[in-house]
Amino acid sequence: MQITSIETVPFTIPYRHPVVAASGVLRSAQHVLVRVHSDDGLVGVGEAVARSFVYGESQASIVAAFREWLEPAVIGLDPFAVEEILERTNWVVANNTARGALDIALHDLRGKATGLPSWRLLGGMQTSVQVTRILGMGEAQEVADEASQAFSEQGVASFKVKVGTHLLSDVARIAAVREAVGEDATIYVDANHGWTAEQAIRALTAMAEYNVALVEEPSPAGDRIGRLRVAQQVPIPIMADESAPTVADAARELTSGSARALSIKTTRTGFTESARLVALADALGARTLLGSQADSMIGAAASLAFGAAHPQVAREPGELDYFSVLADYVVTEPLEVRGGVLTASQRPGIAVEIDEDKLSHYRVDDV
Ligand SMILES: [Mg+2]
Repeated sequence: MQITSIETVPFTIPYRHPVVAASGVLRSAQHVLVRVHSDDGLVGVGEAVARSFVYGESQASIVAAFREWLEPAVIGLDPFAVEEILERTNWVVANNTARGALDIALHDLRGKATGLPSWRLLGGMQTSVQVTRILGMGEAQEVADEASQAFSEQGVASFKVKVGTHLLSDVARIAAVREAVGEDATIYVDANHGWTAEQAIRALTAMAEYNVALVEEPSPAGDRIGRLRVAQQVPIPIMADESAPTVADAARELTSGSARALSIKTTRTGFTESARLVALADALGARTLLGSQADSMIGAAASLAFGAAHPQVAREPGELDYFSVLADYVVTEPLEVRGGVLTASQRPGIAVEIDEDKLSHYRVDDV
């Protein structure tokens, strides 16, 4: 079996409402569908996500990275040659979600070639993963209403709230969400480096009474001394996200004591590098949670498959339903959160089938 070509299809799906974080505002899903074709006629799919303010990628740059570097590097290779493919592509720096999508599309192809779901090929069981709903930086009551709706209608009992601007409104937002979802729900926060270290210490000290389980990127990771002070002075464990997009970065964050948990985003580290991140965290006694790179249902299905394969990841709620913000989807069988969980499919690979009519509708060729 050989890889014959890689097709990239940029598509844009509008959001139901803008999502505001300290790092930027998202208004639409600007993604690229990646299809790896083989001489057997099988096609593996993955999704790259253009996130200029995190990875410096755009839909156009993702398409170019495949055309100029990634496709030529893997043409003619056996899609099962995981390490060889990595060896031939890992000289491409950055381009995180392009490389992540390639790795996932190859896994999907292996699943289709063997008839096995990705979670099984990765060595896991068919596990359900509890879903975390991500809440943006809206008015406290508005955000709390969204949380209680997800809680009552879909059984969602874990929430990540974006913070990192004004201390008082950040604290008020957490208080309102806790009030709305009750004492048993999990709440954690993501400041996207929006606070200084000093602001983070003040805000998180005030939030501790609302039982905040984790804080993601409280302050700039480059401020090493400030970040360590946050870790030492605040009773809420720090999770590394954009400060740890590679295994080397994650090793630095965990061994320095700056973080006690890693956000695993398969969209940026594929399955292969994500598994290495989980192994590193295991060795250092750190937690791992499935993060969202604002994935559509394609990326969410991949992330779910990875979570289902790793019990140490699946024991924590995962950010798997970001697609609820998107006004539509391009798969034939939409994922549906029931009882607060998503369950990995028995179908081969990452178990998504593309709805070609919808893809034609949302594709944007002039990127
Ligand atoms: Mg984050």
